[in-house]
Amino acid sequence: MIFGDIKVKAPIRWAMVGGGKGSQIGYIHRAAALRDNSFQLVAGAFDIDPARGKAFGETLLVSPERCYPDYQTLFAEEAKRADGIQAVSIATPNGTHFAICKAALEAGLHVVCEKPLCFTTLEADELRALANRQGRLIGVTYGYAGHQLIRQAREMIARGDLGEIRIVNMQFAHGFHSAEVEAANPATRWRVDPKFAGPSYVLGDVGTHPYYLSEVMLPELKIRRLMCTRQSFVKSRQLEDNAYVIMEYSNGAIGTLWASAVNAGSMHGQKIRVVGSKASLEWWDERPNQLIYEIQGQPQQILERGMDYLYPQALEDDRIGGGHPEGLFEAWANLYFRFAMAMEALGRGDQAAVDALGIPGVDAGYEGVRWVENCVRSADAGAVWVEYR
Ligand code: NAD
Repeated sequence: MIFGDIKVKAPIRWAMVGGGKGSQIGYIHRAAALRDNSFQLVAGAFDIDPARGKAFGETLLVSPERCYPDYQTLFAEEAKRADGIQAVSIATPNGTHFAICKAALEAGLHVVCEKPLCFTTLEADELRALANRQGRLIGVTYGYAGHQLIRQAREMIARGDLGEIRIVNMQFAHGFHSAEVEAANPATRWRVDPKFAGPSYVLGDVGTHPYYLSEVMLPELKIRRLMCTRQSFVKSRQLEDNAYVIMEYSNGAIGTLWASAVNAGSMHGQKIRVVGSKASLEWWDERPNQLIYEIQGQPQQILERGMDYLYPQALEDDRIGGGHPEGLFEAWANLYFRFAMAMEALGRGDQAAVDALGIPGVDAGYEGVRWVENCVRSADAGAVWVEYR
């Protein structure tokens, strides 16, 4: 269980780039990082608009002189201080991640970066090599992976509770962008513009989430080839607002993934169903405290978070016991809690301890970019099967 007792020697001195006032994702980064006292927010370049960023930083109780106009100044000035930052989180639009992440690593900082880590596998490789050279962490905020029942699913599959894995059905299909909302919403506008969003919209923006969950639950499954079709139902969009992917895995299993922002009426619609020869599991992010377990020929079971019948791995991050709903903020806090421990372990050169934490690191960032790259290659060639590379 997590009781809030500190697991690092001292809170890690931490800054944010982006995540300013009005941003979608900034608050949950702060809420998660600060939850267990593993991090202390001491600096930032919170906004593309320096004055707005400074004013906001001050309301977060960051000293005015440590609210910087841009990330370059943040890294340069903090490096001069004896009490300068040790880690930074990047919560800016996709097109800036690579440059900011690279600059942070060059400045000797640990990084937590939003997905997608960057636009191409070449860039992801460069970041991975740089992080390894510097002995620094890159964590990627695939936040849903912090839900405890994801660990339960991973254990059940590893122990053979489902039998041989045959089918993985994934979807993240919401309806919030069923109409041209970007006309009035800047946070949607950059998402459908390849200059800022990269080569895809929904594949990268939402599809990579359940895809990462499948990697966590099914670490042995490797894609052999895939086929993707993508389309924009809102015609003014340059990037797809809907996509389907079919994946063949090397062990003969098959997977599908539906990514959409035009699933009218759906809130999030992120689900993963794993079908084995004996039984199936299904998890839905709108009911994250429940995992559906269906054994062929028996009544459905609903496994509840925080209960003693779960495997120990699913109880490690329990904060309050079964019955009390935990949610996305706890899932993110579980990730940040582990990011902090990973940063400290890397500081001692203890890679084995980092690996044991099971966090989405640079490899997860790389794999997300690689999956999108392959999907786009297939879709743009006319929705054909492509060997996974
Ligand atoms: P947003 O447009 O709502 O906010 C972006 C913020 O970054 C704003 O405060 C903006 O002023 C600031 N910013 C932009 N460029 C900057 C720069 N160069 N320097 C400093 N600040 C800068 O975007 P959002 O929806 O919060 O998304 C941000 C990132 O988070 C994206 O990469 C997105 O894919 C990702 N995201 C992840 C999740 C998740 O579940 N992990 C959810 C939503 C968004």
